[in-house]
Amino acid sequence: MTFLDGSDLLAAVPVAPGGQADLSLDRAFPSSQTCSACGHRDGPKPLDVRAWTCPNRDTRNDRDWNAGRNILYEGRRTLAA
Ligand SMILES: [Zn+2]
Repeated sequence: MTFLDGSDLLAAVPVAPGGQADLSLDRAFPSSQTCSACGHRDGPKPLDVRAWTCPNRDTRNDRDWNAGRNILYEGRRTLAA
């Protein structure tokens, strides 16, 4: 499994050379309860649940890593719109 840190996520957001991405996501965006592999929404989880397994694809999601991927994807989607 590969882990991304914040700089990896920012570097992966498509921005024109010399440009900046200015975007914000809705606070209700379910970044930690959506499987970043298949999009399955698994529902809210207490903060002490640090990892969960997606029932659809049997993917083990680290809470923060999964949320980071979902935020990246949503950022890309927002910028492409
Ligand atoms: Zn899944």
